[in-house]
Amino acid sequence: MATKIAAAQNRLYKNAFVCKVCKHKMKLEPLKILSGKARCRKCKSNDFRPVRKK
Ligand SMILES: [Zn+2]
Repeated sequence: MATKIAAAQNRLYKNAFVCKVCKHKMKLEPLKILSGKARCRKCKSNDFRPVRKK
């Protein structure tokens, strides 16, 4: 893929996380995830993973 697209994807997914419970994708600061302050809007879970798994 072109580097432009890679850069755009990096920007898009940089602060994006997916709720492990309901798979809802959210924009969150990584610090909030690590400190446990992040909450899923849909299911109130605080269990998240980064969007890009591989
Ligand atoms: Zn959720």
